[in-house]
Amino acid sequence: MMGPPGAGKGTQGELLASRFNVPRYATGDILRAADREGTELGQAARKYMDAGELVPDELIIELVGEALGAPAAMDGYLLDGFPRTVAQAVRLEALVRNTGRDLDAVVNLVVSDDEIVRRLSSRRVCSDCGTLAPTETLRTECPECPACGGELITRPDDRPETVRRRLEVYREQTEPVLAWYRESGMKVLDIRGTGDVECVQVRILAGLV
Ligand code: ADP
Ligand code: ZN
Repeated sequence: MMGPPGAGKGTQGELLASRFNVPRYATGDILRAADREGTELGQAARKYMDAGELVPDELIIELVGEALGAPAAMDGYLLDGFPRTVAQAVRLEALVRNTGRDLDAVVNLVVSDDEIVRRLSSRRVCSDCGTLAPTETLRTECPECPACGGELITRPDDRPETVRRRLEVYREQTEPVLAWYRESGMKVLDIRGTGDVECVQVRILAGLV
């Protein structure tokens, strides 16, 4: 799954992963979980994430290497938020070859900058478990996490200044990955990411067949 921050990679990726019954590896989620658990990886990643910068390639590649080497990934997997640099994409090639399979497709969710800023400024996540709050919860008086009852907060990197930096980083470092995949002959699906969640999912499924 590729696309700018807030394009809906997580939402669409979860639906796809459950539909195809494969694990979903979302590097951002893994890093935030590590941070909540207070691990070394989490602490190392946090300062980059909060500033809207990318976490160093080496940290991320090690993390994805572990995930793809696990038995759960044997029958396929979905990657969300990785690769985000051309260097990561090159390293992923080798990791994928080791698993004896190929990447099937890149799903690129296309959403305008205005829409991204709008979406991220109203997004709330649980400070305890990381669950994304459904939009209905945002309008209620006392919103609590539907999964664990925890407090819903604005993700530190969803503040407007940081969102602007994440968009810049996306243009500078991650868009070139899309060009790299296109040149290498990979199937890249450009999917309009606006409209109902279900409609976007249908567009992706139609592109994958
Ligand atoms: P979004 O796609 O909405 O920006 P993510 O949860 O995917 O959100 O990522 C949040 C942050 O986690 C990024 O801004 C970055 O700091 C870090 N991160 C996630 N994936 C990677 C990656 N592949 N390479 C480097 N940093 C990453
Ligand atoms: Zn929660």
